[in-house]
Amino acid sequence: MTRTDLLRYPLYLLRWQLSSPLLAVVTLWLGSGWGPAVVANLIGGLLFFWVDRFLFKSRHLERIVEEWEVLPDGECYDCGQTGRVRRLVFTLDYDRRLDERPQYRCPACSERKLQQVRDLLHRKGTALPS
Ligand SMILES: [Zn+2]
Repeated sequence: MTRTDLLRYPLYLLRWQLSSPLLAVVTLWLGSGWGPAVVANLIGGLLFFWVDRFLFKSRHLERIVEEWEVLPDGECYDCGQTGRVRRLVFTLDYDRRLDERPQYRCPACSERKLQQVRDLLHRKGTALPS
């Protein structure tokens, strides 16, 4: 289980609990039995499809735990531009806190690199190779 999964798992369990009130309301309204259960599951599917999609596809959760190191005056590792540079130090499944040769980048190169990291993490669902 990845760190991203460890963050998503409790949210997923909470989301499952949200289906309980829905089931309770529908069975109070329509009674118990197969028919009301089918209706409750249909309503739940219509609603929770979007919640599940957010939980498993959204990259917002990863951004919550990003840690950056910023230098007001440094040199970009990629293009050599000097000025404000930064590096991503830590996020879910990406840990460069003990990096002995940190690479700082200008805002443009940093965005490009960040997108590569996010794509790789999202595609693999595992930690980056060091
Ligand atoms: Zn650059």
